[in-house]
Amino acid sequence: MYQSVIIGTGPAGLTAAIYLARANLNPLVIEGPEPGGQLTTTTEVENFPGFPEGIMGPELMENMRKQAEKFGAEFRRGWVNQADLSKRPFKLTIEGGEVIETQSLIISTGASAKLLGIAGEKENIGRGVSTCATCDGFFFRGKKIIVVGGGDSAMEEANFLTRFATQVRLVHRRDELRASKIMQERAKENKKIVWSLNRTPVEVIAGEHGVTGLKVTNNETGAEEILETDGIFVAIGHTPNTKFLEGQITTDETGYILVKPGTTMTNIEGVFACGDVQDLRYRQAITAAGSGCMAALDCEKFLEGQAVHDWSKSL
Ligand code: NAP
Repeated sequence: MYQSVIIGTGPAGLTAAIYLARANLNPLVIEGPEPGGQLTTTTEVENFPGFPEGIMGPELMENMRKQAEKFGAEFRRGWVNQADLSKRPFKLTIEGGEVIETQSLIISTGASAKLLGIAGEKENIGRGVSTCATCDGFFFRGKKIIVVGGGDSAMEEANFLTRFATQVRLVHRRDELRASKIMQERAKENKKIVWSLNRTPVEVIAGEHGVTGLKVTNNETGAEEILETDGIFVAIGHTPNTKFLEGQITTDETGYILVKPGTTMTNIEGVFACGDVQDLRYRQAITAAGSGCMAALDCEKFLEGQAVHDWSKSL
């Protein structure tokens, strides 16, 4: 039985681990399928305070992990596929059937890349369709690439992919971009990026050797067009990783965990949420880390209260 368990090892989970470990609460940190979270699939992080020259995402995460380990956080790999939060101790079932019991829980499972949901997309993941430019960009040296999306992620991925590709085509369903001004400007200044705005993707076209094109609808004319390409990077946002909590905890309609404003408290006493799994708005490494710290402090307070409570009961 653990006093505290943290699920997820992005900036939120690892910051919570550092704080809980330093408070001698010996947290168990469960690492899912993407240890280190989304930052391990990014290149240089320029906006995390304290690194004036920037730092590579994977290195930043490795440093956070080492810091948590140094203070005694215990790590284990595992996929939590079920949770029983109906009473304490909370029970988490790891794939393979092992059950972990804990008095308190911090959920920092982050969010995963969304797919378009169009024909040919899923079956061509790894054959030209990708959601991670930093993971797969290298495979497209000297090729033509499409990036789908109009937000900051799409701009960032498009810019990054021009390192490898001869041309990057940004395909967006509206004629207006959602991305911040600075990111838009960077992409617009990049001579290797061409634009197909007002185009809605409808089908991934692939042949024997992988992706060859993207069929889109031209929203101005209603006509269908095929944009030739060797690869398609889907950068249209993320879905929170809360499926394993279905029916257990209060979320919004898209699955983001709801917390009491200004805190990391969920609707269940002793369960806290931090990072992207509860943050639809900011979604930055630094805000995730900040909320991880808040979760640890909220959790510590909760456990202290429990100790006082249990002690008073024994009088
Ligand atoms: P986002 O801001 O939600 O943008 C998603 C984009 O994908 C939108 O342009 C959206 O189109 C489009 N889209 C969504 N579903 C689609 C579908 N089914 N078919 C076609 N297009 C679809 O997501 P994001 O770009 O991942 O950014 C998320 C957050 O992270 C933002 O707050 C962003 O500022 C932040 N971020 C920051 C940085 C940075 O500062 N370096 C980098 C990446 C992300 P519509 O516009 O028409 O809705």
